[in-house]
Amino acid sequence: MRAAVVSSSKDKLIDVKEMPVRALESGEALVDVEYCGVCHTDLHVAKGDFGAVPGRVIGHEGVGVVKEIAADVTSLKVGDRVSIAWFFEGCGTCEYCVTGRETFCRSAKNAGFSVDGAMAEQCIVAADYAVKVPEGLDPQQATSITCAGVTTYKAIKVAAVNPGEWMVIFGAGGLGNLAIQYAKRVFNAKVIAVDVNDDKLELAKEVGADLIYNAAKLDNVDQLIQKEVGGAHSAVVTAVSKAAFNQAVNSVRPTAKVVNVGLPPEKMDLDIIKSVLDGIEVIGSLVGTRKDLEEAFMFGAEGIVVPIVQPRKLEEINEIFQEMEDGTIQGRMVIDMSL
Ligand SMILES: [Zn+2]
Ligand SMILES: [Zn+2]
Repeated sequence: MRAAVVSSSKDKLIDVKEMPVRALESGEALVDVEYCGVCHTDLHVAKGDFGAVPGRVIGHEGVGVVKEIAADVTSLKVGDRVSIAWFFEGCGTCEYCVTGRETFCRSAKNAGFSVDGAMAEQCIVAADYAVKVPEGLDPQQATSITCAGVTTYKAIKVAAVNPGEWMVIFGAGGLGNLAIQYAKRVFNAKVIAVDVNDDKLELAKEVGADLIYNAAKLDNVDQLIQKEVGGAHSAVVTAVSKAAFNQAVNSVRPTAKVVNVGLPPEKMDLDIIKSVLDGIEVIGSLVGTRKDLEEAFMFGAEGIVVPIVQPRKLEEINEIFQEMEDGTIQGRMVIDMSL
C-alpha cells in the first residue's frame, strides 16, 4: 500500500512510499482508507515536535471502509464505514477510561504518532475504538469532524454554555469555523468570533457568528466585548497566540468558563485576583471521547454542521504542509486516496 511516512532525510518531511500490510491480531480490523484530512498536528509529528518518529505513517483524520476483521471482533463488520482519530485506543481499565474521560488515559495511543495512522491506502484499527461514520454523512466532510469537529464540540460541552448565552470563540480557522457552527446551530448560543484575518472572519459571519472582531485592527477587543454584551458567558480559545488566551479571560463575565484548545508553546497570564473575585474557571479540553465523536458525527449527518474541505492527492502532502506553514489554507485539505 502507498503511505505518507515521516522521512528520516533532512530534505523533506514526508516520504510517500510502498509499505507492507501486516496480518491482523486479536481485536483489530483492516480499513481501506477513502479520505484522510491534513491537520496541523500531522505537521508537528512530521517535524518531530513531539519526539522524532521516522518511519511512522501519519494521519488521524481518516475515514474508510472495513475490509477485514480479526476472528474475535464483534463491534464492527466488513463494509462498515469507520473513522480513525487521534485518540486511537485507551487501556480500557484506568480511572480515566472507566469514567468517561478516556482521552486522558495515560497509556492512550495516538493514530499517526504512537501507532501507524490513516494517511495510507490501508490502516489497521483497534475495532472497539473505531467510531462508525453514520449514513448520510459525506465521508470527505467526516474527516474534519473526526478531529476539528469533535474537538470543538467537546470544548463547547466543557464550557457548559446555555441557549441564548454569549460565547466568544478566539481563532476562526479550521477549528474555530466548526466551533462557531456547533456553538450557534447545536448549542443555540450567541457567538462572537475573534481572529486576526478578515477572510476568516467573513467566513465566520457566513456560518453564523453574530459579532466579529479583528484583533489585529482593533485595540482591546476584550474591553469591546465587555462594553457590547457585558462580557461573554464563556470562551473557547482555538487560536495559537498567547494574546488570545489572555484576551479570553478578560472578555468574559463573572463565573465564566474559559476553555483552552489551541496549543501555543507559551504560558498565559492569569490574574489571580480576577480569577478569585470573578470566579473564573480556566479549563483545558483535549479532542473528544468515542461518544463525543458519535454525537459530533450525527450533527454532520443531519447537515447542521458543514465542514469546508478540498480534495488533494497523497503525493502532494509536502506541498500541503508548506501551504500550512504559509497560512494560505482555507478550510481543510483532505487526501483523497482514489486520486
Ligand atoms: Zn487533527
Ligand atoms: Zn486508560
